[in-house]
Amino acid sequence: MKKFVVAIATLVAMLPMSLVGVGLLVSPAVFAACLSSSSLVVGPIPESLTATTHAGETVTLNHEQLTHAATIITVGAQTEGVGRAGIVIALMAALTESRLRMLANSAAIPESSDFPNDGEGSDHDSLGIFQMRPSAGWGTVAELMNATYQSRAFYGGSSGPNYPSPRGLLDIPDWQHLDPGEAAQAVEVSAYPDRYQNYQPVAEAILAALTRRAETTPGGTPIGNVPETTAIVFPLPSGTWVNSSDFGWREDPFTGERAFHSGTDWAADDGTPILALADGVVSFAGPSGGYGNLIIIEHTINGQRIASAYAHMWQSGVLVSVGDRVVAGQHIGNVGSAGRSTGAHLHFEIRPGGSNAAAVDAEPWLAAHGVQNLDAASTAALCSAQMAA
Ligand SMILES: [Zn+2]
Repeated sequence: MKKFVVAIATLVAMLPMSLVGVGLLVSPAVFAACLSSSSLVVGPIPESLTATTHAGETVTLNHEQLTHAATIITVGAQTEGVGRAGIVIALMAALTESRLRMLANSAAIPESSDFPNDGEGSDHDSLGIFQMRPSAGWGTVAELMNATYQSRAFYGGSSGPNYPSPRGLLDIPDWQHLDPGEAAQAVEVSAYPDRYQNYQPVAEAILAALTRRAETTPGGTPIGNVPETTAIVFPLPSGTWVNSSDFGWREDPFTGERAFHSGTDWAADDGTPILALADGVVSFAGPSGGYGNLIIIEHTINGQRIASAYAHMWQSGVLVSVGDRVVAGQHIGNVGSAGRSTGAHLHFEIRPGGSNAAAVDAEPWLAAHGVQNLDAASTAALCSAQMAA
């Protein structure tokens, strides 16, 4: 503990200088920009990719399947209002419906096998990567045997090919506040939301493998070069919080159904300071679907890239911008209840591998990494040092 007090004193002493340094590099106007869906650029498509579902099954995808995933990502990035969250939902849906294969269905629709395809399906008159049915009004056989068309139809919205019905993701009221599995189900009109949720980690892995996040912020601050952290700090001051929901499968507080919870929830009073887990660079700060407002920070911990994510702040409770360099324990936001939330709390995630990687259970991770608890007084000292700078 004593060693840590010294560390904090050192951090406070260093703060003004480091903040001035950042100020010289990046103008405030540039801070207003944040990583939006347009920052999702598809890079080279790998020959294969292996990932694990929530249920623990190993899924290996080939180049053809990943090419369809690239189409889904590209169309999503080009469609206003979809963003990263919507792309993950579309990938979950296509993985569940077809394992990302362009399926013909010659039993129900003989002409479908005249189009390039990856095999045969046999569910009703369903076709293609999202298993859309011509008889349900999704499109003609020629349209539905095209991955770009199916992706546009899945996302829907006023620029979609079927507006307003059958509904795409953007036509589902308040889709951002649904669990991603439920949002996929709402478009596919399927009876089994768990099927889609099971593929969320695979969808996240595909998105991470196929897209390149900008290595620098718009202001030129390198995100790729994040120095090793000097400390690991619990993200809320000691004595201000209680655990209100663990990582893992749980009964969804909104629907009562089984759903996967990708973070840990700590209930705390609205306005409680949120502290940066470790030294790092902010890679996301702003609204993000069911997260309400979200902050993601990239860290280097024991030489590994780790991202920490903090959710449900009100807009006014986000105190950092993309590209900001933060130190462990820095006051980065205030607890709120925005987005898919039933009361003031911090939803916290640890993502080994970086911001596009899947989350792991934060509590054992924190314990294994020797987390330090800051009390409110130390937090206040850090705050005033920041204000003075
Ligand atoms: Zn949560």
